[in-house]
Amino acid sequence: MQNVVIIGSGCAGLTAAIYAARANLKPIVLDGHEPGGQLSLTTHVENFPGFPDGIMGPELIENMRKQAQKFGAEFKAGAVTEVDLTQRPFKVVAGKETFETRTVIAAAGASARLLGLPGERELIGHGVSTCATCDGYFFRGKPIAVVGGGDSAMEEANFLSRYASKVYLVHRRNEFRASKIMIDRAKANEKVEFVTPYTVDEILAPKGHVEGVCLRNLQTKEAREIELEGVFVAIGHDPNSTVFKGKLDMDSNGYLVAKHGSLTSIPGVFIAGDIQDHRYRQAVTAAGSGCMAAIDAEKFLEEHKD
Ligand code: NAP
Repeated sequence: MQNVVIIGSGCAGLTAAIYAARANLKPIVLDGHEPGGQLSLTTHVENFPGFPDGIMGPELIENMRKQAQKFGAEFKAGAVTEVDLTQRPFKVVAGKETFETRTVIAAAGASARLLGLPGERELIGHGVSTCATCDGYFFRGKPIAVVGGGDSAMEEANFLSRYASKVYLVHRRNEFRASKIMIDRAKANEKVEFVTPYTVDEILAPKGHVEGVCLRNLQTKEAREIELEGVFVAIGHDPNSTVFKGKLDMDSNGYLVAKHGSLTSIPGVFIAGDIQDHRYRQAVTAAGSGCMAAIDAEKFLEEHKD
């Protein structure tokens, strides 16, 4: 019987693990599909307090993981396929293992969205990517596109310009969701060309790898074809909350709904990070909510010594 099972190993899950481990609760952390979460897919993090020169996302995550391990957190690979939260102890199934636990912290984060075009998913690894950090290096000297108009798209366009010969930033509106500083940086980048208001109609890959995109101007309806070798999709994320459907309160977009900090409608089940946050979505807010969930779990265990 476990005291705490933490679902997810991003910033929220790892911070919860550090706190729970330091409280001697010997937490089990289930890594999930993307160990380390979104920070492990990002580059330079300049806004996490304590790093005046910034820190690389994967390094920050690795440090948090080591810190949690140092205090006794145990990590298990694999993603959760089922949870039974109807009675205590709760049951959490990950692969062939079932964990019985007094408390659960759901910190499974959110995952990158795709455009939904035919063949797009199959082309991941053959020119389509949702992770500039992971795949940018493969596009040295090649033209590529980044799709999206938020901070992620701006950041990826700038990052990818280090490698690519040219970056087309394709966005469906002439206005951007991104912050001004990020837009200004991308606009000042000679390698980045803004292509708006365009939508991607088709990813051209007759030989099984990306050779171009077919775009449509949403104002004039004109089509435009661009030859390129990579398409980086940066259009936001969806919460990884499927296993909690019908079991925990969620909003219409699938984000879990927290009550009073990290609490849910089920005593003993706590939530943290991007799985319950579509507003702030920052490493530091995810870490903060992971801390809250661990403190809430500790208090709950203190009050329910059954
Ligand atoms: P986002 O802010 O939700 O932006 C998503 C963008 O993708 C929007 O411009 C949206 O267009 C577009 N989009 C969505 N669905 C689309 C579709 N089906 N086809 C074409 N375009 C589509 O997501 P994000 O950029 O990933 O950022 C998420 C959060 O993380 C934000 O709070 C952001 O500030 C933060 N962030 C911060 C940093 C940083 O500070 N270093 C870096 C990355 C992210 P519309 O605008 O037309 O809806």
